[in-house]
Amino acid sequence: MASDDMDVVVLGGGMAGLTAAATAAAGGRKVLVVEKSAAIGGSALISGGIIWSPESVEAYRRLDDRSDETLIRLAVEGIADGLRWVAGLGAEVSEDFRLDHVLHFPSVARRFDNHTYLHQCARLVERAGGHVVTETNTTTLLTRDSRVVGVRISDRDGSTDVLAPWIVLATGGFQGDPELRAEFLGPGTRELVLRANRASVGDGLRLARSAGADVAHETSAFYGNLLPTGLPRPFVDGDFLRLSQYHSIHSLLLDTNGDRIGDESVATT
Ligand SMILES: Cc1cc2nc3c(=O)[nH]c(=O)nc-3n(C[C@H](O)[C@H](O)[C@H](O)COP(=O)(O)OP(=O)(O)OC[C@H]3O[C@@H](n4cnc5c(N)ncnc54)[C@H](O)[C@@H]3O)c2cc1C
Repeated sequence: MASDDMDVVVLGGGMAGLTAAATAAAGGRKVLVVEKSAAIGGSALISGGIIWSPESVEAYRRLDDRSDETLIRLAVEGIADGLRWVAGLGAEVSEDFRLDHVLHFPSVARRFDNHTYLHQCARLVERAGGHVVTETNTTTLLTRDSRVVGVRISDRDGSTDVLAPWIVLATGGFQGDPELRAEFLGPGTRELVLRANRASVGDGLRLARSAGADVAHETSAFYGNLLPTGLPRPFVDGDFLRLSQYHSIHSLLLDTNGDRIGDESVATT
């Protein structure tokens, strides 16, 4: 079966994918969101639900002078529009508060109702004539004359080719795949305790590479927190926020021989 009546196909129904999909739908586009898991939401469902933004471009650059200034500028200058968009979808947003003690640079934070936000994004997509499908995987990017023109998706009923001029890869990171962790972050990371969406195993990266793309920047840094080891039971989702130790920047990290592991000050939490 072939379907060519989509304007945009978004792979991944997490925060990034649904925000992109809803933005396209608000602009009148017919969007198909393809989510591999049984429910939309991805890591956002287990996150702290905080929207934070650097106080200024300069403040963030002092923390990390390798960051992309265009993106930082968007986060600083676009935050007011972003918050209006979130509130406009009916998701409650708190008053501003400071998060400097966790992030270690001047930043402004707000809590928001991300569950309502994600479901309202999905509703917006459907109201504009699009679809959000779950338990559907994406196996292949379809190409014609070296251009990506669609995707092959599959669910329990079989596979379908969907053609669209715009394909958005929003399948999250590759944290769930020990081999990709080893490739980009070093072999020691195969054993890392994982507390994020486990379905994000680098599918978008693999699909993009299959179409000839490659990673553009250094990818050896990642978001993580110190955790106590030796829990007498398996680590579960609810443990991460509760057990995270936001103080590595003030600590010395030693291995079991008592030797320092690295420069602790390069981490932010
Ligand atoms: C414990 C914790 C706390 C956090 N707290 C905050 C916070 O307070 N504020 C903040 O800004 N950020 C926070 N974050 C980070 C934030 O949650 C993530 O950066 C964000 O949710 C990532 O969204 P995403 O859409 O890029 O990826 P994901 O959430 O990983 O979504 C990707 C989606 O794609 C799906 N998928 C994967 N492969 C395929 C495929 N082949 N086909 C179709 N679908 C596929 C996945 O199932 C998933 O639903 C936190 C993260 C964690 C783990």
